[in-house]
Amino acid sequence: MSKTIPIDADARRAAKPVICYRTDQLPEFNAADYATAQRSMSQVSEVIVAPRDASVFEVKAGQFFRIVSVDGFQVGDLNLWNQHDLSERFYSGKTRQLHASHVTTGHRLWSTLPGLRPMATITADTLGWYGFDADGGSVHDVIGTRCDPYTNYLLNEVDYHHCCHSNLTRALAAHKNIDLSVAELHVHDVLNVFMCTGFTHDTHQYFMKASPVRAGDYLEFFAEIDLLGALSACPGGDCSSSHSDDVTTCYPLAVQVFEPAVGTLEGWASPERNGYGGGHGV
Ligand SMILES: [Zn+2]
Repeated sequence: MSKTIPIDADARRAAKPVICYRTDQLPEFNAADYATAQRSMSQVSEVIVAPRDASVFEVKAGQFFRIVSVDGFQVGDLNLWNQHDLSERFYSGKTRQLHASHVTTGHRLWSTLPGLRPMATITADTLGWYGFDADGGSVHDVIGTRCDPYTNYLLNEVDYHHCCHSNLTRALAAHKNIDLSVAELHVHDVLNVFMCTGFTHDTHQYFMKASPVRAGDYLEFFAEIDLLGALSACPGGDCSSSHSDDVTTCYPLAVQVFEPAVGTLEGWASPERNGYGGGHGV
């Protein structure tokens, strides 16, 4: 049964878009607040993430960390948790609503309800020049989820064990010494670091294209709370052709943690959990 198009269809479609959330009410980002600490910081650790695998890392509130493309042409899938409470984790959907479909310097990575506070702030992005291309694509998206063996099975009816979902699950299970089935429940929608994605203009389908990342590029974060992170070097490599298989050439990624000099973060305080009272109308 076909629906009749109302006579005022064009007028209804012409309603003006309104930005859902007033971002001017968010905690302000001032690059200068972090600049002194950035200039003084020194590297305290490095974790190398092997291709088609994931590694876990810890960052203290007040430290910086960088995800670095050490050999180039590689995207990464990032999960973040409150180091002391895995139930508070990165909330990709709300981050998307508060900032944009793709994140860069000045954007925050927000935590799940009821915490809803900045977990990390992006303080540098060597791919910040990319902007949005003619296809509507950009880098570092919070619109995709993560490649996973279930969707792959649904589409291809094969078991593939090195999707980012499985890589993150294995890494978290080993780090926390918990069963895979328990760890899997903590794995969540990611920040797709270096991945170039968008929605097609005609069918509005999620697309990926060759990442512009090259060796030496990095995305830098300031840890607003104590963080446990896990990063997967996606089996899609630069995501120019396929993922969830062993076809594409993949490269390692590095996670480097930096400690700023004492006294360079004056005025900064780790954010409290969200202030909502939790009554929910009862
Ligand atoms: Zn992946």
